[in-house]
Amino acid sequence: MPVFVLFGKKREEIMLYHSTRSKENIADSAQAVLNGLAPDGGLYVPEQLPRVDVAACLQENTMDMAARLIGAMLPDIPDMRTLVGNAYTGKFETDELTPTVDTGKFTVLELFRGPTSAFKDVALCMLPQLLTKAKTLKGMDEEIMILTATSGDTGKAALAGFADVPGVGICVFYPDGGVSRVQRAQMVTQEGNNVHVCAVEGNFDDAQTGVKNLFASGVPGKRLSTANSINIGRLAPQITYYFKAYADLLRRGQIQMGDKVNFSVPTGNFGDILAGYLAKKLGLPVGKLICASNANNVLTDFIESGTYDRRRPLHKTISPSMDILVSSNLERLLYLMSEDTDLVASLMGSLNKEGFYRVPENLKKAIQEEFWAGYCDDAKTRETIGKVWREQKYLCDTHTAAGWAVAEDYVAATGDTAPMVVLSTASPYKFPAAVLSALEDVAEMDEFQQMDYLSKLTGVPVPGNLQGLQQKKELHTTVIPKDKMLAFVEAL
Ligand SMILES: *Cc1c(COP(=O)(O)O)cnc(C)c1O
Repeated sequence: MPVFVLFGKKREEIMLYHSTRSKENIADSAQAVLNGLAPDGGLYVPEQLPRVDVAACLQENTMDMAARLIGAMLPDIPDMRTLVGNAYTGKFETDELTPTVDTGKFTVLELFRGPTSAFKDVALCMLPQLLTKAKTLKGMDEEIMILTATSGDTGKAALAGFADVPGVGICVFYPDGGVSRVQRAQMVTQEGNNVHVCAVEGNFDDAQTGVKNLFASGVPGKRLSTANSINIGRLAPQITYYFKAYADLLRRGQIQMGDKVNFSVPTGNFGDILAGYLAKKLGLPVGKLICASNANNVLTDFIESGTYDRRRPLHKTISPSMDILVSSNLERLLYLMSEDTDLVASLMGSLNKEGFYRVPENLKKAIQEEFWAGYCDDAKTRETIGKVWREQKYLCDTHTAAGWAVAEDYVAATGDTAPMVVLSTASPYKFPAAVLSALEDVAEMDEFQQMDYLSKLTGVPVPGNLQGLQQKKELHTTVIPKDKMLAFVEAL
């Protein structure tokens, strides 16, 4: 075991993290943020969860809440209230960061009011603050290079979060022709003296595999890190909005303190919904967590059957941020519910080798106690966008629509009458073609015209950061073959 300087604290007062695959691989919370992934390939999980004064937390404004919760999860990183202020002040449409809308049916938790109109802003505004503070704390002088492969949303949110942050560089690879025009324009117009964006000839898997290979081989002269949701520094900030939503329902008199609230979460990598599970473990009265997928329903099958099987084709859908077959953060849930690192290591081994694993019956039952799962294909997604617009006058994006549809399925299947919060993970204007096609049959428009037309049709304004994108100067136009990624990073 490494020796830790305890600064006069008792060992049991120090909250350490260890790998999901071995309790021997430990790190304090600052080191866990710097490492991203544990050396054995596992994900960092806390030895034990901190105590949080839930009642006091629910009285606070969103930024104080965030400082309390992130500070509890990452106790070694000091000055948390300042970091939260630096991360969020002036960057979101409102100081409450993540407003809720009572649609008359479900409550929508809007996570897309940040600088790039995707829910990933909540975490990626905060991660640079955590990373640079952890770096100073550990006396690390070298520059860190953040490498990220993106299918669209993560790339822009990470670029915006890390732009001009001292001591850190950011490099994003996206599949050439594999992101929407809006998403491409968002990335290639990004300003900042430490940002690099590059298209890769190939699909998202090629870009992702390329990045994984760079991590495995290392890049001479560069210290690499990641902005993906395997980093605990990305997960911790997402706990806040579950508390915020609960506080809103309390303030509106829709619930009493202690009442259970259900949350439906459009899910890809299982990071967002895992933050909801952590909120529950910290004491928030969460009822069921509803895991909503698109046609890539590997999680639906897993939660229903206990078998996780990635041996299936990946479908390209109109909710691309959920087009994923290996949900990395599920590994954290498997550990948190079993507390058995040997079990997790062996399950992950069979996933890698054989492409599937089966969890023991008691673990499956325990997961089903907490989670309910369903999926929504493209046709149902469009139908839901249309229906929610007609019936609730609420315009939602494709991912949110999947969350809404599966929430309806849950209510129909169980008759559960607890209040339902649907997490809304993107602005409808990030996916204008798909959203518009759900409302009206309009051909022959490019995505930017569709954006304007959608706004005229619904009266819902286009977020500031997406306006005028087409006129902005393209700064990053490099396209490379997939075997040239190492050379690209080496030259930065
Ligand atoms: C990333 C993303 C998701 C999925 O979130 P996970 O944490 O990966 O489960 C859902 N919707 C949108 C719009 C996203 O960008």
